[in-house]
Amino acid sequence: MLRAKERVFSIPIYHPPLAGRDGLRLDFNENTVGCSPRVLDWLRQISFEDLARYPEKAFAERQMAEFLNVADSELLLTNGTDEAIHLLCQTYLEPGDQALIVVPTYSMYRIYMMAADANVICAPMGANFEFPFAALCEAVTDRTRLIAVANPNNPTGTLAPLDQLLALARLARQAAVLIDEAYFEFCGKSVLAEKGEYSNIFVARTFSKAYGLAGLRVGALIGDANQMVAVRRVCSPYNVNSVALACLPVALEDREFVEKYVSEILESRTRLQEALQVAGVRYWPSEANFVLMRVGTTGDDARHFTERMRTQGILVRDRSADYGCEGCVRITLGPKNHTDKLLNALNATLEELSIAQGAPAR
Ligand code: PMP
Repeated sequence: MLRAKERVFSIPIYHPPLAGRDGLRLDFNENTVGCSPRVLDWLRQISFEDLARYPEKAFAERQMAEFLNVADSELLLTNGTDEAIHLLCQTYLEPGDQALIVVPTYSMYRIYMMAADANVICAPMGANFEFPFAALCEAVTDRTRLIAVANPNNPTGTLAPLDQLLALARLARQAAVLIDEAYFEFCGKSVLAEKGEYSNIFVARTFSKAYGLAGLRVGALIGDANQMVAVRRVCSPYNVNSVALACLPVALEDREFVEKYVSEILESRTRLQEALQVAGVRYWPSEANFVLMRVGTTGDDARHFTERMRTQGILVRDRSADYGCEGCVRITLGPKNHTDKLLNALNATLEELSIAQGAPAR
């Protein structure tokens, strides 16, 4: 009888957003107001020919390269950042190689690394989710072939110092070092400008967050031109669909939309963090479009909190199962009117569950 390879059964299961997400969706770090209206107008003009033909990537890819100020040969559009991660695993990992991540972090790194039969080594973040630079350096060996770091990190919202990321890339020259900048727009800090001297650094960006296009699945992987030749060999020529390719240049052009959205999210981030501070709820100052907070000490506490928020129409994400996140939930930020609703429900829930301690949180 056919049976999948043994490794597959030890891969942790990712629980994606499925049906029945009624309410204000502050659980998956999506954009809660959607994309630029110009993208929607453009979508309405898509013709049967656009759909009948195989996708042609060149134009959108060139626009993106120009936008990021990199050469065409250094950039590959991908089916979201997830595909970029997958491609790096396929390109660099042999069975038994080591792949390094920090914990807690975005789940898909481990999933794709394990699927490529690599040994996944985890460097735990510090007590305050500090970037575990020393632990990562110590874990690097001759067999380390891939290191993946989300910066800012998910679910902590914390940033790794750029000089430490570069030092790691220098130390592990035989490894591909992926800096996943999915939340770049909310912090403005990137290794992209520094990357030139490092042929082993890759940067990933996405249109799923600030641009509000998670459903279209578009991301970009940027790396050394010679390395990208290898990455392209394992990539489908049609990895990004034609609807996404048609929308991308329009999305890139509407700077005003993205800038306004990001500034609203930053205001909301300040408001939520201030409210948590006042309530005496422990949180970690975020550089992304979400905030991680501790609403109790156990998984049950986080589950009760999440359920109470849901009954008030607000979906938040229970992150209790993540390393170091016992009793923690992650809340995605929206613009002002969504934050008004969030704060009403949050304050009611904190009071109802007696979570508010009234003491300074940090
Ligand atoms: N990287 C990180 C750090 C993320 O948090 C997410 C989404 N939650 C992704 C990548 C996935 O992005 P995409 O939609 O571009 O695949």
